Amino acid sequence: MIDRSHAEALDAADPLARFRDRFVIADRDRIYLDGNSLGRLSTDVRDAIAVVVGHWGERVVEGWHDWIELPRGVGDRLASVALGARPGEVLIADSVTVNLHKLAHAAADHRPGPIVTDAANFPTDRYVLEGVARQLGRQYIEADSVEAAIDAARDGVLCLSHVDYRSAELRDMRAIIGSTDALVIWDLSHSVGAVEIDLSAVDLAVGCTYKYLNAGPGAPAFLYVRRELQSSMRSPIQGWFGQRDQFLMGPGYEAADGIERFGAGTPSVVGLAAIDAAIGLLEEAGFAAIAAKGRSLTELAIGLADAWLAPIGFSVGSPRDPSRRGSHVALRHVEAWPIARALIERAAVVPDFRPPDILRLGFAPLYTRHVDVWDALHRLRRIVARGEHRAVAAGARRVT
Ligand SMILES: *Cc1c(COP(=O)(O)O)cnc(C)c1O
Repeated sequence: MIDRSHAEALDAADPLARFRDRFVIADRDRIYLDGNSLGRLSTDVRDAIAVVVGHWGERVVEGWHDWIELPRGVGDRLASVALGARPGEVLIADSVTVNLHKLAHAAADHRPGPIVTDAANFPTDRYVLEGVARQLGRQYIEADSVEAAIDAARDGVLCLSHVDYRSAELRDMRAIIGSTDALVIWDLSHSVGAVEIDLSAVDLAVGCTYKYLNAGPGAPAFLYVRRELQSSMRSPIQGWFGQRDQFLMGPGYEAADGIERFGAGTPSVVGLAAIDAAIGLLEEAGFAAIAAKGRSLTELAIGLADAWLAPIGFSVGSPRDPSRRGSHVALRHVEAWPIARALIERAAVVPDFRPPDILRLGFAPLYTRHVDVWDALHRLRRIVARGEHRAVAAGARRVT
């Protein structure tokens, strides 16, 4: 039996414990386990947003003299702190959806074969890839597994998630890239800010900043293009933010040198300020410590799930090897949806539900404690053991 004092001892020894106080935690009883969907607000980010809004008020359009450099500058900072990439390889822009569209389109110019992903990949990724394939008259393949996707990709374009958004499976990017002739685009949305990332072997990647990076709802995404590939890749969106000498307002489009060619329209300056502050917090904490804590939190959750939840119908849907796992845990149960609602409504625990049967618990390392894991699973066990999930109204919802 894993005692609560075990969780307390892990917290007492946690080198990141002090970071919890840097976040706005309004309801102390509520256990927030959805930081992999929307990260919490840190005071650093809140203050940075106030500062940039102040600049807008004071400087109005003059502010652009500084803001114009942010997509590249904040991208460089993200590259060095969180991605293991070089300066000039990362741009903050648009959403993951739009960035994937841009990179998939550009990648298809480099490879004649099919456009491929696995059927379990995140919906927007599948929709975008299918659309790009249709626009370009390419075959689109949605394979049954990552292994089958790698086989099917041959000389085409392959898009995979680094960490699977449902199972939390963490893929070995270097090994997969080494095993295929396809050009691989990695979606880092569920890994960035949670695990150590090294893009030195990677050609193309996209990712999101509002999950484990905590930059806020709708904060812009990022894209990465290996330096050596940039001059031969073209964005399908010929926007003025990707134009060489943008303010010459010239007659025709000519792609900027370098990563800036993947810009499109005016970036969100407020979002960029938030991302910059969010990166600062991660930099202070350090990625070795962040990733180690993620493994420790998920390890505790899996241990408790085996002890308490397996007897009441749950199974663990995430890899048991901590080195093969991101910072969330999938618990499978046939009644996962009403259980998720009951946790939120009756137990002040916030997980999320992913069809068909997954209760997803995200353990953001900077602000989640081991006692939160223990308490959340304890409440979960009680709810299900008492059948309380059968008493909630678990109708359809737009956001799950
Ligand atoms: C969250 C997430 C996205 C989000 O895409 P947006 O365009 O920013 O809404 C895309 N892909 C994956 C794998 C994600 O986890």
